[in-house]
Amino acid sequence: MTEEVIDRIKEVVKLDPSEFTTLSADDDIFSKAVATILSQNTNDRNSIKAYKRLREAVDIKPKAILSIEDRELIKAIKISGLYKQKLKSIKTLAQKVINELDGDLNRLRHVKLEEAKEWLKSIPGIGDKTADIILLHLGHPTFPVDTHISRITCRLGFTDRRRYSDVSRYWLDKLPRERYLEAHLLLIKFGRSICQSRRPKCNICVLTETCKYYREDGEGCKT
Ligand code: SF4
Repeated sequence: MTEEVIDRIKEVVKLDPSEFTTLSADDDIFSKAVATILSQNTNDRNSIKAYKRLREAVDIKPKAILSIEDRELIKAIKISGLYKQKLKSIKTLAQKVINELDGDLNRLRHVKLEEAKEWLKSIPGIGDKTADIILLHLGHPTFPVDTHISRITCRLGFTDRRRYSDVSRYWLDKLPRERYLEAHLLLIKFGRSICQSRRPKCNICVLTETCKYYREDGEGCKT
């Protein structure tokens, strides 16, 4: 059932990875982590702009990030919002990677998932979602949840509430590992275009047969 839902969404939502990120397959994991931090609490357009400006200003490597003056960094990332917090997160990440991982964030690949997650979450400004995205890039089995994913999952009736850990656990248990990233992106796009927060477009939705919120006339999942 759950995979079928993702397949049905896939029929109506076309994924274009460039909408979500300016990263290429060649970008290393530290760049991906920085791009993830820049994407917090802003839209994709501004986070992509901030990342491009940062890349033009500095080589996105831990040592280079620590060698550049704060005002230069701020100039590049300001457009993504919350720039003071993001500056702190990026610099702390760079320092920790140098001090504790021999300069290579890839070392977290070989650390147990829970330990790797705690390591990331010890950085100011990095919570469950950011940590899970970085861990997914590192090859760990995580399912990052944003506001769209928690809303849709709860509306469908797959979880009783929108709590991060419940929603993430649901998809982790129901999907094969190789579909985590695809499903994560499809659900976000579906939430932006069809199952919107205020006025879900149930009249054109392909999930009405499955959806608890639809069956209950919009009464489901208010938590
Ligand atoms: S039927 Fe409506 S509430 Fe349910 S998933 Fe579709 S758009 Fe969202």
